[in-house]
Amino acid sequence: MALAVAHTLVHGGSLVVEAGTGVGKTFAYLVPALLSGERVLVSTATKTLQDQLFARDIPELLQALGLPLRLAMLKGRGSYVCQQRLELAQQATSLPDRQAFNTLAQVQAWARTTTTGDLAEVPNLDERSALIPLITSNRDNCLGSPCPHWRECHVNAARREAMAADVVVINHHLFFADMAVRESGMAELLPTVRVVIFDEAHQLNETGIQFLGKQLGTGQLLDLARDVLAAGLQLARGLVDWQKVVSEFEKTLRDWRLVVGKHPANTKLKWSDPEPHGVHPLDWAQALHDLSESTERLQAAVENVVDAAPDFQRLHERLSDVLSLITHFENPCAPGSVRWVEVGGQMRCFEAPLDIAETVQNKLLGSDLAIPAEGSAGAPLPRSWIFTSATLGDDDKLSWFTEPCGLNNAQVLRMQSPFDYQAQAWVHVPRLMVPPKDPGHSAEVGDTAIQIARALGGRTLVLTTTLRALRAIGAQMQEAFGDSGELEVLMQGESPKRELMSRFRKAIEPGEKGCVLVASASFWEGFDVPGEALQAVVIDKLPFPPPNDPLVEARSQRLEAQGRSSFNDYFLPEAAVSLKQGAGRLIRRETDRGALVVCDNRLVNTGYGRRLLAGLPPMKRIEQLPELLSALREIAKT
Ligand code: SF4
Repeated sequence: MALAVAHTLVHGGSLVVEAGTGVGKTFAYLVPALLSGERVLVSTATKTLQDQLFARDIPELLQALGLPLRLAMLKGRGSYVCQQRLELAQQATSLPDRQAFNTLAQVQAWARTTTTGDLAEVPNLDERSALIPLITSNRDNCLGSPCPHWRECHVNAARREAMAADVVVINHHLFFADMAVRESGMAELLPTVRVVIFDEAHQLNETGIQFLGKQLGTGQLLDLARDVLAAGLQLARGLVDWQKVVSEFEKTLRDWRLVVGKHPANTKLKWSDPEPHGVHPLDWAQALHDLSESTERLQAAVENVVDAAPDFQRLHERLSDVLSLITHFENPCAPGSVRWVEVGGQMRCFEAPLDIAETVQNKLLGSDLAIPAEGSAGAPLPRSWIFTSATLGDDDKLSWFTEPCGLNNAQVLRMQSPFDYQAQAWVHVPRLMVPPKDPGHSAEVGDTAIQIARALGGRTLVLTTTLRALRAIGAQMQEAFGDSGELEVLMQGESPKRELMSRFRKAIEPGEKGCVLVASASFWEGFDVPGEALQAVVIDKLPFPPPNDPLVEARSQRLEAQGRSSFNDYFLPEAAVSLKQGAGRLIRRETDRGALVVCDNRLVNTGYGRRLLAGLPPMKRIEQLPELLSALREIAKT
């Protein structure tokens, strides 16, 4: 892998590398990149890996290689404390909850001494804390150069450092956010870099479409209304009846939300007609029209006082952006994109491209002008793009990744994991279990997981495909173990992921109780527990994408329209990648041992199931549960 990366660095172009667990992919791209003498940008999907590269891997390598390179890390605004908003939060008479008061005191103490302003430094800060939006800035509420803290602003300092560094570590969110709004500093950074490396590249497509599309939501509009009211009352009191104009605007917002009706949280309504599914067309059109008029009235009010303070100029721009978004959503969806409405308490309209292929080809590779090689007066070289991850597809071309990312012409390399899976791991599929669509399926999965966790004294991760299964299996395991105190049963959502992972790891320390974790969604990847603490992964069913999701449906329809099979070319590769990721939680080191249990007999009873099974690492099959349980009891003793 290192040689392939080095070759791409010399000649330019795109290289896609799938490097199985244990290959050492981070060093395999970092060593040639650092030795190349080029300016390097490394982007990760998660802040965890971003922090690890910046704080550990790259400094270690720079020291080992004796390279005096300058390293910087750049995150999105939401990762840095904003001194201006921290001050406002301190003066606020009310905060979202009691916990927020304690967190604020902790952040205040830390903010006096931090040099980076990166909130990741605050010990045990819950990334879901309701305080965070109040003490960080976004593009809308940052005051920019008139800000009294402009000179010592952490966001600005991080950008300055990134501009001066030889190696900059960023994340995919920042990369794509900047392509959409060009404000995070990447716009200046990218043209000066010749080597761009995307680690955890499997998340590139889904991250990209979030930022390349458009969004308009009631939450965002309520924030804007509140900002107008606060600025109006503070800086232009008496010049406009702010209460009246803002409450009129809020009323049209409520009316707009009401036309969509009541739905459970996180419902996604399809939107292929001019109006979202199930909404009366005339009501929808009228509500959008009223919203547009009310936004215009709010903007006119702001325009009256625009010279009173710089804040009003920014509010005026934000209102213009909202007006263009409303017009956008009044018109038909852009070709090649899909629309939907997410609704629960609040409502958000989305329009997203189906993938990032066009953007990558036109804006990245297509605009890839040759730039001079660092330190050389010689011929200019094209840019080098490296994309890598442990899981990028289920065929030799890695089409699951390369197609939606527009990388059909990239060089592709697959590096197998060096682990001896036959000796280290077992795979078991309970053949007699009821099929996944049977209402009794979760209970049978729970029974199997209980037996496995009991054989191992904990050390078991249960991965579910739905939140409903998570709750059902979690409750069943809690009843079996938690109530008697035999084992600790953790469930996703009760604490931040970082904390759950650390409690799970500690469970094998002397005096600690064995531990089971039941989780879904984000735990299928990035849950890294090497060693004896994790010896069984139980998966409830094959992780096919939900067919009713508007994005999934639009992608399958596009494939069918091209005469392709959406099942073979989309659903199966998606399931294969997720299954590999889930299974990948089990064996993290050469000495690890354990079992993967997939409670979905389609894996052995159907042709496509066997294709999915063949895509997993070559683990030893165990047919009978009792045999597996005694094997697990054996490894638990060692
Ligand atoms: S410039 Fe923006 S981000 Fe920086 S302190 Fe001021 S408001 Fe906050």
